[in-house]
Amino acid sequence: MPYTPPLRDFAFILDHVVGFQQVRDTDRFAEATADTVQAILSEGGRLNAEVIAPLRRPGDVTPSRLENGAVVSPPGYAEGFRALADGGWIGISAAPEFGGMGMPQTLSTAFYEMMAAACLSLQMNPLLTQGQIEALEHHASDALKALYLPKLISGEWSGTMNLTEPQAGTDVGALRSRAEPQADGSYRVTGQKIYISWGDCDFTQNVCHLVLARLPDAAPGSKGISLFLVPKIIPNADGSLGQPNSLRVVSLEQKLGIHGSPTCVMEYDGATGWLVGAPHRGLAAMFTMMNNARVGVGVQGIGVAEGAYQHALAYARDRKQGPTAKGATAIIDHPDIRRQLAIMRAEIFAARAIAMANCVAIDMATATGGADWAARAGWLTPITKVYGTETGITVSDMGIQIHGGMGFVEEAGAAQFLRDVRVTSIYEGTNAIQALDLVGRKLSDGGAAVFAVLDEMAKAARASGMGAPVTEAVQALRAATEWMLGQGMEARAAGATAYLRAFARVLGADMHLRAAASGEGARVALARVYLDQMLPEYAAHLAAMRADPAAYMDLTPEDMTA
Ligand SMILES: Cc1cc2nc3c(=O)[nH]c(=O)nc-3n(C[C@H](O)[C@H](O)[C@H](O)COP(=O)(O)OP(=O)(O)OC[C@H]3O[C@@H](n4cnc5c(N)ncnc54)[C@H](O)[C@@H]3O)c2cc1C
Repeated sequence: MPYTPPLRDFAFILDHVVGFQQVRDTDRFAEATADTVQAILSEGGRLNAEVIAPLRRPGDVTPSRLENGAVVSPPGYAEGFRALADGGWIGISAAPEFGGMGMPQTLSTAFYEMMAAACLSLQMNPLLTQGQIEALEHHASDALKALYLPKLISGEWSGTMNLTEPQAGTDVGALRSRAEPQADGSYRVTGQKIYISWGDCDFTQNVCHLVLARLPDAAPGSKGISLFLVPKIIPNADGSLGQPNSLRVVSLEQKLGIHGSPTCVMEYDGATGWLVGAPHRGLAAMFTMMNNARVGVGVQGIGVAEGAYQHALAYARDRKQGPTAKGATAIIDHPDIRRQLAIMRAEIFAARAIAMANCVAIDMATATGGADWAARAGWLTPITKVYGTETGITVSDMGIQIHGGMGFVEEAGAAQFLRDVRVTSIYEGTNAIQALDLVGRKLSDGGAAVFAVLDEMAKAARASGMGAPVTEAVQALRAATEWMLGQGMEARAAGATAYLRAFARVLGADMHLRAAASGEGARVALARVYLDQMLPEYAAHLAAMRADPAAYMDLTPEDMTA
């Protein structure tokens, strides 16, 4: 089943929904002209549709494997990656002085959405690399930047992110890997990391690991963590490859999905590494990569949702079953199938618009240094992650349902979308952790960022002929936010997921109202679907947010046993 890049949606969202014009009006991104944006998206779409999408199924049936301690990737991945690297796609948003294009993150995000739809397992590799590029740009020494960035941006080398250890998953502060300073300014890194995506790679010459570890004098917990760059092969000063480092892939995980992406158990045994950022400030430095990856993972969900939707739409148009009121026989004419397809499309549109609004805020913060833009981006990031990934999961699930029995049969291809996307709500900080971030750190400004977003939504709703239910929802969300601000962390934590989901529902409606303002018939109809079918859920979420957690906290583990 071919993949069709959603170019019309991208262009429409940029022009009519998220105000991309303000990004290209800045000096920093003046080169992102309308023509350039159009060329990047259409050429990126073509690459993903023609070269990357055919790799999705082969990577599922012929997973990455470990041979003599080295990863062997699925057939075609090496050629697909080379086409990507040669086209300069890894460095779309990277600094031009190191070989990047210097384009806004909004564009690289659109590209990575398309690549996620085409082949999520392969997409993981450059997604992590571009996150590492951003972290090094912000925190590495000039010498490390000069040596590593050109190689990462060109795709000669790839990058990984090493946080997780067996006893340190969500609680990163529990990690035990350690780093000993050496006389020459380098460090010896020792420890075990688990679940490391693309911890080895057979289509790049070197794999550069960003590893969190503790210095000898480190405080316990998350305040005592530092960040190190640990390459698989230690480069010489001129960038040529030197000696292999003391690290290895111990094993690969067998997984539900993304079979093409090797998930590695890594062992570092006195491996040579270099400090990135200040000692004991590693988590702050890693957060650059993690924030980038959080938006990126949300967008993975949206991309997979788009793929699943296109698959289901094609099947529904083709599959003949049962007479309909009109006498036609394709299942797309059954109201329940049409309803599901409309919901899928409306969810994807809302999630995509939220992600792009998030990226516009990131780009504006980069271009102007404005604290209000940074706060807006900070507020939207956990919402992008949760809404994007939950959209990926629910839309892929509906895609299976639309296929009927064929949805459950691997050969049809609908099941792979759900198996692949399922991990997105787990990695990069589980969705529960995103919600805690939203009601904790992101509300620590007393609500300044959220109230600014709510004010904007209220204004847009008032200006829209169909905005009455959104006006009401924004008022309820404002009251819910004030309630949240009045609670201690325990009550906030209990209501966090429900609050985030309510917020996402209303924000999604806001995006649809902006789209409907264009007056285009299909956009207005889709907004109607969202307002009728999805927006009302916010009220149930807000009720759940305020519900007394004692109801379930008082249930003992014994009470929970049937
Ligand atoms: C395929 C795959 C690829 C991955 N790639 C990488 C990678 O490249 N690099 C890397 O470093 N890691 C990677 N990870 C690890 C991933 O980020 C972790 O699995 C994730 O952070 C969760 O940690 P955990 O699995 O230990 O779950 P746990 O932390 O044990 O969490 C279990 C459950 O408890 C909940 N929970 C835990 N703490 C809290 C809390 N304080 N409040 C509320 N709920 C809580 C969680 O939400 C979750 O539902 C990958 C994982 C997978 C499956």
